[in-house]
Amino acid sequence: MQELTHFIGGKHVNGSSGRFGEVFTPMTGEVGAKVPLASPAEIRAAVENAKAAQPGWAATNPQRRARVFMKFVDLLNRDMNSLAELLAREHGKTIPDAKGDIQRGLEVAEFAIGIPHLIKGEYSDSAGTGIDIYSMRQPLGVVAGITPFNFPAMIPLWKCAPAIACGNAFILKPSERDPGVPLRLAELWIEAGLPPGIFNVINGDKQAVDALIDDPDVAAIGFVGSTPIAEYIYARSAAHGKRVQCFGGAKNHMVIMPDADMKQAVDALIGAGYGSAGERCMAISVAVPVGKATAEALMEQLVPRVENLKIGPSTDASADYGPLVTRDALERVRNYVDIGIKEGATLAVDGRGFKMQGYENGFYMGGCLFDNVTKDMRIYKEEIFGPVLSVLRAEKYDEALRLCNEHEYGNGVAIFTRDGDTARDFASKVQVGMVGVNVPIPVPLSYYTFGGWKRSSFGDLNQHGPDSIHFYTKTKTVTSRWPSGVKEGASFVMPLM
Ligand code: NAD
Repeated sequence: MQELTHFIGGKHVNGSSGRFGEVFTPMTGEVGAKVPLASPAEIRAAVENAKAAQPGWAATNPQRRARVFMKFVDLLNRDMNSLAELLAREHGKTIPDAKGDIQRGLEVAEFAIGIPHLIKGEYSDSAGTGIDIYSMRQPLGVVAGITPFNFPAMIPLWKCAPAIACGNAFILKPSERDPGVPLRLAELWIEAGLPPGIFNVINGDKQAVDALIDDPDVAAIGFVGSTPIAEYIYARSAAHGKRVQCFGGAKNHMVIMPDADMKQAVDALIGAGYGSAGERCMAISVAVPVGKATAEALMEQLVPRVENLKIGPSTDASADYGPLVTRDALERVRNYVDIGIKEGATLAVDGRGFKMQGYENGFYMGGCLFDNVTKDMRIYKEEIFGPVLSVLRAEKYDEALRLCNEHEYGNGVAIFTRDGDTARDFASKVQVGMVGVNVPIPVPLSYYTFGGWKRSSFGDLNQHGPDSIHFYTKTKTVTSRWPSGVKEGASFVMPLM
């Protein structure tokens, strides 16, 4: 069986802890590779290596740094097919969906090509008599990213591209469930001309994460994953006085107003609810039809669409979605369906019994649809992260808005309506970080920022866009006066301009 490595100092390095994790091929259910789980000593060695490499990279002027990114983007495009195949094999999503995962990461590397402009400071000429003030953005040093299984290309790229462009050295601790693509990204960075030691991959679990957080030479931690772990990593990193941003779980609502184009709304809902087997932090997991007639029309169109979802192996480009990532994930999602039934929700479509012919050991699950869900149910309150959509009926718009605002998560939300006033009111009042108006998955483009509110995000500043440049740099402000501006005599009062 293939034994994966770490990637430190520009080369593959075998694990030495003696501990390994299993990397599955979800479409067949087989174990495809084993991944080393780093010990604290291995983390220390990687950090020291990165620390030694970082000053040289920080001293490389931003224009030259940008050229490495141009090459890197070319290489991602060159290898798009093979990266997507590897990603789909380890994760389970279909190959077209895997290409989207890579593309949305690549776009942040494209954004980072603008680093000479993005990292510019400010300058105030003659802020006082003979006094000029300017600010500069300097890298933090060695920074670390800890990423989830569900976007093994996109989220590592969201983290590392701005961090590296700003002149930092970066240590990625990817999900131990699909580490293959991150290791390939490391090879491509070297091929693009990034100096060894600036992008490193350390595979591992909690031990590796804790060692990164506790390492005094790691200046900042960026995390994406589930909310309990986000909260833990935020608190532990903050206790060390580190810069930290942690993005967590979600329960994204889609409000369907009586005036919505129902065909469009159903198309949007089926893709956003079941695409990637529901394993997206921006997946729609709750549909909120407003009014009885809207709910009836929605269910009438939605039920046959869910029943006819095409589930297939990751290699089937015509499939709507593939298997879940692991058997544990499959069991967990099935268990939530059992919970929903016990709680009294109506299971309008039951996909638990689905078997994929020829792939009987794969981690497949048919689409499930719950109707008459209420807000006290666990299937509404908790993130399921699978192909399970809940319909919670609201009588009025105000009730639908209140539901979105009272939910503990606030990652994404959507409203489908043809009424401009309602859409505007919703966008203004909803307590959620990313809002779609007739757009079911409103993931902002790379030059805007991505981030949720409430318990979907801990710390300030979002991912990519201008916030990422702020997160991965510290600002220094210089106030200077030259002799021609100096008045004679000492002053003991607070300096005023
Ligand atoms: P996860 O929280 O299980 O794991 C995320 C990372 O944390 C992995 O690298 C993992 O190795 C590490 N980790 C796991 N347990 C740990 C522990 N006890 N201590 C320290 N580190 C630990 O998440 P996942 O299952 O890989 O990913 C799915 C979750 O990520 C979902 O909740 C999803 O909503 C969320 N997500 C959020 C966003 C966002 O931007 N808000 C984006 C993608 C995914």
